[in-house]
Amino acid sequence: MKVFQTVHDIQKCLLEINDKHGKTFGFVPTMGALHQGHLSLIQSSKEKTDITVASIFVNPTQFNDQKDFEKYPIQIDKDLEMLLDAGCDIVLVPSVEEVYPYGTVEKTGVNLGFLGKTLEAEHRKGHYEGVLQVVKRLLDIVQPDFLFLGQKDYQQCLVLSKLIEHYHLPIQLEICPTLREKDGLAMSSRNMRLTAEERTMALQLSASLFYIKEHINDFPIKTLIETELEKLNQYDLIKTEYLEIVNGKTLKKIKHFNPKIPTVALIAAKVGEIRLIDNVIIT
Ligand code: AMP
Repeated sequence: MKVFQTVHDIQKCLLEINDKHGKTFGFVPTMGALHQGHLSLIQSSKEKTDITVASIFVNPTQFNDQKDFEKYPIQIDKDLEMLLDAGCDIVLVPSVEEVYPYGTVEKTGVNLGFLGKTLEAEHRKGHYEGVLQVVKRLLDIVQPDFLFLGQKDYQQCLVLSKLIEHYHLPIQLEICPTLREKDGLAMSSRNMRLTAEERTMALQLSASLFYIKEHINDFPIKTLIETELEKLNQYDLIKTEYLEIVNGKTLKKIKHFNPKIPTVALIAAKVGEIRLIDNVIIT
């Protein structure tokens, strides 16, 4: 596995491979503190493409909360070991200066419409502008054929599909299912910051989503959401930001369930100090 810290060096390597062998490239962008969820994306890329490229970069411009950025877990050596074991071919671990040589002011011109106003966008102001900015830059550097993203960040997948569309990038988006712990908690780098008590509480988030999926035909949408919010709000350690059942393409709230329309339930909540998100696809 080759590890690069500069754009110049990784591009030289990628160009050489491309010129000599005409291989297909899969790209898995991450912020590190890797877990099996990330590695499942590496696995999918290995199955679909010739060369798998990963990046580890904690992008400062996508954090709306400075404390969250400062406390984001960093474990580069362990991450590189995990990527090596997973069979990743090339890793980019750039500095902020490498990613943003001209500073961070310039954002992309992607118009997200409603996607840029609802759910995560509403609760994390500026977050997707930062995500678009960093992913556009990383895609320009790596120029992959396939981009592998996790369904765990459902809205992010829709946002980045808009990015690809906006710039007419010749990149195929592959969305991989959410990997969960045995008890149902969605794997996340932030889970390692939970105390034992918070870790137990965090289970309520996926439990609510699973309950909604199971009972989507049994109650009106409004009742389902109200009941689940009430359950979650019993716990002092949980502060829900949203729990919504929406159209899986537009993210507009749905009033009545229709199994013919893509539908997804999404949640964001703070458990103690740690903000977690999760979702389940209903249809
Ligand atoms: P992050 O390092 O959190 O920015 O995530 C990097 C990529 O891994 C994103 O495409 C995430 O959606 C994906 N990812 C994060 N957690 C999971 C998970 N539990 N299962 C599958 N993919 C995940």
